[in-house]
Amino acid sequence: MSKKATESAEDMVMENLIALCKRRGFIFQGSEIYGGLAGTWDYAPLGLMLKNNIRKLWWRRFVEIRDDMYGVDAALLMNQRTWEASGHVSGFADPMVECKKCKHRFRQDQLADPKKCPDCGGQLGEAQQFNMMFKTHVGANQDSASVSYLRPETAQGMFVNFKNILDTFHPKLPFGMAQIGKAFRNEIAPRDFLFRAREFEQMEIEYFVNPKDWEKTFEHFLAEMHAFIADVGLTSSKVSNYEVPDGDRAHYSKRTIDIEFAYPFGKKELYGLAYRTDFDLKQHTEFSKVNLSYYDEETKERYIPHCIEPSFGLDRTVLAVLTDAYTEDELGGEKRIYLKLATSVAPVKIAVFPLLKNKPALIDKAQEVFKLLKKEFGAVVFDDNGNIGKRYRRQDEIGTPFCVTVDFDTLEKGAGVTVRNRDTGKQARVAEQELIAYLKKAGV
Ligand code: ATP
Repeated sequence: MSKKATESAEDMVMENLIALCKRRGFIFQGSEIYGGLAGTWDYAPLGLMLKNNIRKLWWRRFVEIRDDMYGVDAALLMNQRTWEASGHVSGFADPMVECKKCKHRFRQDQLADPKKCPDCGGQLGEAQQFNMMFKTHVGANQDSASVSYLRPETAQGMFVNFKNILDTFHPKLPFGMAQIGKAFRNEIAPRDFLFRAREFEQMEIEYFVNPKDWEKTFEHFLAEMHAFIADVGLTSSKVSNYEVPDGDRAHYSKRTIDIEFAYPFGKKELYGLAYRTDFDLKQHTEFSKVNLSYYDEETKERYIPHCIEPSFGLDRTVLAVLTDAYTEDELGGEKRIYLKLATSVAPVKIAVFPLLKNKPALIDKAQEVFKLLKKEFGAVVFDDNGNIGKRYRRQDEIGTPFCVTVDFDTLEKGAGVTVRNRDTGKQARVAEQELIAYLKKAGV
């Protein structure tokens, strides 16, 4: 039997999606010309536009439209004491097992059978704790004092700046800090495309409260996380909450809910919401000897605030959005592949075509419409390459919600342009002067 015939439909979806991402310029394998570097991915122009749209929606919902959130962009390299205080040096480890036969390595806690190699069926050795931080040296001396790590989470860049925010902005509790940035984890087995990478982006909030308020804040952010999931257009029936039981939670957390998404390869963690108590600020107070307490003018008490942490993987969002949008159907008797992306995240919102490519009058008019829409909406492209059917298919594949075509009627009778809807293939005739309003109403 061929390899393809033995693969599941879910594997095929992932294979087809990865192929589309490469073919259309969304995501490339990292260092591809050298055979790649496992667990790294390079965003190409369309993937970057998609990722930036998601990033902007997040920043808008969680920072811009609120008056209690302070954005930061902390350094990736931090003083090694940070990671001692946070518990990462001693405890940020996964159990690694190696197959005695094929030598492949796995994370033991992710195996169905912890004794048997999932690749060759061979016997697995004893588990060893493997610290996932990437170690490096800062400066010319390669000694223990110069050790640093590429940050494995963005969170600590906020905790270490807690006092700076208090001293410069004088916020009253409750308030939060927010950050979007890279994180690095030397994952034992990177897999499932963007899902488990060694270099990825997080969008995190550390929200500080009086401990008596932790439960209502937790509920507030759970609701906000689901609202964000709706912002990026994910199918709500594929999203669920998983209450992480005692014993399975991270050492700092008193309550954790994982928000899971039904990826083609299974239901897996998309985001996490944790009640980190006062663990981090207490630890940093102890290790740095800087007092990270807060004076509450209302209660006349001084205490270390407690922290609620909504944590989002940006790349896992990109992957969820892409797998959710990937659709194969039939339109006008022809098979097609398209991305049913929400307009809010689609990299290109509108494509403008002249009906034919070698009619200068059509091209001039289409250029005029293109410039008008580009000025208004930004993410607009012009395409006069190949026949119109091919152009539609190209735009469908990258998830462009609307195609605007200029034809001879536009020129001769001033009869407006056609606007084609990606999902239904239906076309509407829209007067030129109403075009911007029409597209805005349609969600662009
Ligand atoms: P997992 O159990 O899947 O390893 P985690 O619980 O260790 O994830 P957190 O430490 O809570 O993950 O990180 C917060 C968020 O960062 C996750 O919800 C996820 O969206 C993202 N994330 C974590 N590890 C990776 C990774 N290796 N690649 C891509 N995104 C990741």
